[in-house]
Amino acid sequence: MSQKLTAVKGMNDLLPPESHSWVWLEGVVRGIMNRYAYSNIRTPIVEPTALFVRGLGEVTDIVEKEMYSFEDRLNHEQLTLRPEATAGVVRAVIEHNLLYEGGKRLYYMGPMFRHERPQRGRYRQFHQIGAEALGFSLPEVDAELILMAHNLWNELGLKNIKLELNSLGEPAERSLHRAALIEYFESNIEVLDEDAKRRLHSNPLRILDTKNPSMQELVEKAPKLMDFLGESSSAHLAKVCKILDLNGVTYSINSRLVRGMDYYNLTVFEFVTDQLGSQGTICGGGRYDYLISQMGGKPSPAVGWAIGVERVLELLKDANLLPSIEGPDVFAVVPSSRDIEKVMQVIQKLRVKGVSVQMHSPSASGNPGSAKPIDADADSRGSMKSQFKRADASGAKFALIFGEDELSNGLVTIKTLRDGVGLQRVEALSNVDDWASSLKS
Ligand code: ATP
Ligand code: MG
Repeated sequence: MSQKLTAVKGMNDLLPPESHSWVWLEGVVRGIMNRYAYSNIRTPIVEPTALFVRGLGEVTDIVEKEMYSFEDRLNHEQLTLRPEATAGVVRAVIEHNLLYEGGKRLYYMGPMFRHERPQRGRYRQFHQIGAEALGFSLPEVDAELILMAHNLWNELGLKNIKLELNSLGEPAERSLHRAALIEYFESNIEVLDEDAKRRLHSNPLRILDTKNPSMQELVEKAPKLMDFLGESSSAHLAKVCKILDLNGVTYSINSRLVRGMDYYNLTVFEFVTDQLGSQGTICGGGRYDYLISQMGGKPSPAVGWAIGVERVLELLKDANLLPSIEGPDVFAVVPSSRDIEKVMQVIQKLRVKGVSVQMHSPSASGNPGSAKPIDADADSRGSMKSQFKRADASGAKFALIFGEDELSNGLVTIKTLRDGVGLQRVEALSNVDDWASSLKS
């Protein structure tokens, strides 16, 4: 026996019926994206490693320890499975000169890869839904993105999602703050862990993002960037806040919110819940006005966010907010194989007319290639009783019974399975088109 093949640790198969929830959530998101006029973009899952090193910053958790990187066997290019999609979107925007006639509002959905310790809400392959508004500098666009996410929680029925906001200011303000931070951490060097010590001079802001409990108090009292903001940065944040206020969106200012990538400036935000343990952030984003030029494009401002799909679905499941699975309109009960061609023709017509039909077919078991003869007898299709059991279990609204007698008279029996159970009528196969719509939900 060969060794059993299994999925890679931390990477999950999405199977029915859970996959129904995914399809449903994606549909809700598409509806919202349409209303905010964001267009879909799809970039490759593999990108040059340098894209992420340059885009996310060398001294970040993702680039330092979470990337799946490998060398292309043929041309020795260094490649990486994307750990996030903003860098790829920015690359595509530059490569295709998408901003030549003004800003672009884009969204994506798809898998991301990070080599982290798998646990609830944290996987090695996970999925993000993201929105990016590129080429826009005004605070109203930051607000638009936040309002869009807020609207999504509302439409999904999620409650108790908290919005935290901060401003990371502009580079000059950050360097003043940075100097103050280094001084502060240096005078408390005995409290710093190894990670923090290493980052003290390379990226002290990142220390504020620490999850180490023994450093929380130190970080709490660190100099706040907010106190170093100039007039224009403060005004930008104030405008975002005012728009949120007017729309009834509540938030708190969290001066410790720094986000995991280096590319942010001005507005940063996270939507968090206390219902997922330490994996409580379901959406994170902010402004990244310098990333496009840093990656070789014409300087253009931008702002965006990304949602963790697994975490949102987990929340929805816990709150009992996932929709129940709809069965097909029709379950086709086919007692005999004798006139199967005729049955298939009717079912095809129904499906073309928009009726969803699940057809009973006997399951094959045993060795492939050793199937029963084509003219399998009635018994091999399963008894009427077992077919009706399946029809009920399928959640279908109607059973269409293609009995031998009915078929030979050019008829089919339609039985109601739900409201008004047991109601029965007979229709002619010759005019399927006339009665098909009566079966549609
Ligand atoms: P965290 O602090 O939880 O590691 P992050 O700051 O690294 O999150 P982002 O890079 O901002 O996360 O990604 C946006 C969202 O994607 C997160 O808020 C989260 O919901 C989700 N996410 C990030 N990493 C994972 C993962 N390994 N598994 C599942 N979801 C994830
Ligand atoms: Mg992370």
